[in-house]
Amino acid sequence: MPSNWRSGALCLLIETSDGLVLVDTGPGQEDYLHKPGIIRVFQLVTKVILDPDETALRQVARLGYRSEDVRHIVLTHMHFDHCGGLPDFPLAKLHLHRKEYDAFMGPLRRWTDLAYIRRHIAHAPDIALYDDAGEKWYDFNAIRLPFTPEMWLVPLHGHTRGHCGVAVKQEYGWFFNAADAGAVYNNETPAWLIKLVLGPHDERLRRFMRDHPEVRLVNSHMAPEWFEQMSP
Ligand SMILES: [Zn+2]
Repeated sequence: MPSNWRSGALCLLIETSDGLVLVDTGPGQEDYLHKPGIIRVFQLVTKVILDPDETALRQVARLGYRSEDVRHIVLTHMHFDHCGGLPDFPLAKLHLHRKEYDAFMGPLRRWTDLAYIRRHIAHAPDIALYDDAGEKWYDFNAIRLPFTPEMWLVPLHGHTRGHCGVAVKQEYGWFFNAADAGAVYNNETPAWLIKLVLGPHDERLRRFMRDHPEVRLVNSHMAPEWFEQMSP
């Protein structure tokens, strides 16, 4: 069930056989109190509006759950606007691609690495790292996550070195969050800029969206109107 982020940073909260699973957290409480400089910089180029009432923690609470009810967090990547809320769910186990964790922990290699903020995992969470294992979801290389309903981590590296999409089987069909790998609903962004910031997958994702109308494909930073339309 997609949550309503007026800021336009998509999080999914999914009821699974092993408790609640959150896919990406958006920024966290701490980010509002001590806004890191990098967030101010990114606010100049993204539409992320910082409203503490929109944190995943507050939204989860409004649905009647506590922080500890969120047992697992799957991350598309570790940029602050996708994982800043990790400290708000200190008991949740993280699930992400090994290459993303390595990029997060490793030396700064490109300017977008400035969006990695180490204190987001200072609470030393339990972490499960995943490697490609030759499996497929549709024609994408994919890694099966250990949850029911069926969920896949879909490596779409480029935006970051270990960036992945996440596909979730819903009653109506597949929901595929391509996160920051494409601008699929935005036809105004020039192709060169998409390639530079989002990586090489946008064209393939658009083709996939045309060929598979049964799959609901979204990206992380949809227009605010989209989130309003999706709100419960
Ligand atoms: Zn990002």
